[in-house]
Amino acid sequence: MKKRVLYWLRNDLRLVDNEILSELADFDGELDLVFVIEPRWFRQTNYQSKSFGTHKFNFLRKSLAAFAQAVEKLGQTLHVITGEPEQVISQRLQKYEIETLVCTEQVGVYEQKQLNKIKALYPHVTVKTYQQDTLFKASDLPFQLDNLPKNFTAFRKKVEAEPTFIAAPLPAVSLLPHPVQLCPEQAIDDVPAHSGSFKGGLIAAQQHCNAYFSSKAPSSYKETRNELDGFSNSTKFSVWLAGGTISAKQLYREVEVYELKNGANESSYWIKFELLWREYFKWHAVQAGAKLFHFKGQKQSAPLTTFNSQRFEAWCQGRTPFALVNAIMHELNATGYISNRSRQIAASCLVNELELDWRYGAAYFEQQLIDYDVAANWGNWQYIAGVGVDPRGGRHFHINKQTALYDPLARFIRKWQGDVTVSELIDVVDAADWPIAT
Ligand SMILES: Cc1cc2nc3c(=O)[nH]c(=O)nc-3n(C[C@H](O)[C@H](O)[C@H](O)COP(=O)(O)OP(=O)(O)OC[C@H]3O[C@@H](n4cnc5c(N)ncnc54)[C@H](O)[C@@H]3O)c2cc1C
Repeated sequence: MKKRVLYWLRNDLRLVDNEILSELADFDGELDLVFVIEPRWFRQTNYQSKSFGTHKFNFLRKSLAAFAQAVEKLGQTLHVITGEPEQVISQRLQKYEIETLVCTEQVGVYEQKQLNKIKALYPHVTVKTYQQDTLFKASDLPFQLDNLPKNFTAFRKKVEAEPTFIAAPLPAVSLLPHPVQLCPEQAIDDVPAHSGSFKGGLIAAQQHCNAYFSSKAPSSYKETRNELDGFSNSTKFSVWLAGGTISAKQLYREVEVYELKNGANESSYWIKFELLWREYFKWHAVQAGAKLFHFKGQKQSAPLTTFNSQRFEAWCQGRTPFALVNAIMHELNATGYISNRSRQIAASCLVNELELDWRYGAAYFEQQLIDYDVAANWGNWQYIAGVGVDPRGGRHFHINKQTALYDPLARFIRKWQGDVTVSELIDVVDAADWPIAT
């Protein structure tokens, strides 16, 4: 019998710069490509949100459909199976007598636990993981991971001082081994053509990358990146990075190619600077483990906030007393994407004005954002709540000041109908449940 490998795909739905597929291209055996849709993604968590809202799930389906089409052209089949990953993967390992399991290394503690369970169940199966969601490999970092610098600036200075090695992105694979099983088990449902404003999948990712770097936008990125709105004001790479339809290494390389052609400036450098932020949060997540989700966070200091369902609901639905925050939440709910500045303002409002437990906000973003990334999302929320890797200890984005700076003519507020109506008080009952007079 031919040797068999199972590749468990997660956030690596691409053919370019995919170390696993490149390594397997001339493998003289059979390959099983599997993606697992987990039922828990659609169950409400302790924080009153689900892991996947409609926009996020539709975007994933587009990425899956594009990947399935791409591997089909190479004679392969992507099996998209709904179930608990431990069971789905275990069953296939058994059923098809597979000797080797390969996957991209995950920074989330939950995802690591899933793999560890499978390893424990099948000690005779060889498990190989690949660090291909980051710019650097852990072994190339200029420090041991246990000594990860306590803040981003210290990290950046270290990796920039004697530039840390970034491997060249690998070319697209053009050959794949035969599938283990020939008939597809579950087709990917048709995705509504107009689900959200971003096109998902590896081809859309490459098209966006080409369009962005053929424009002059990278040369003014630093001046525009803080805007609330506007497609080319920031790169929008996060949307494709999250599902791994493009890699951070590819994008970093594209910035360097752009700089060679058009000249480097502070703006083009700043794209690399932000990709380093992503990188820092990834390694921070590995180091923080379950603490990434703790109320007291990395700092082990409890914020003076609590949970109040009415305030939380008002924030989620964009019915707070703050017009700018309402507009931001309306955009998030309608599209699944908001700018970095909008994320900072909405998160700061939840923590500072509404005095709510930051984890509820982080979980709501997890449900809504099509670019949701466990490390970036929970790491940034901790940062704003003052329990993360921020040397200043929390950030308060004063809403009036932010409105004056970024939406002085209230265009964004009008576009997303953020206006506050008289009835939008934070609380309609007091702590003892008495109605509050308007
Ligand atoms: C509360 C909060 C939650 C966030 N949740 C997420 C999330 O779930 N997924 C996510 O990818 N980003 C998250 N971010 C970071 C940032 O807002 C987005 O990466 C950025 O807005 C995406 O748009 P862009 O690709 O146009 O970014 P650009 O400004 O063009 O940046 C280029 C790339 O750099 C990286 N990057 C930029 N800023 C950050 C940052 N602060 N932290 C980490 N990486 C960064 C992203 O990969 C981004 O694609 C969050 C920020 C905050 C304040």
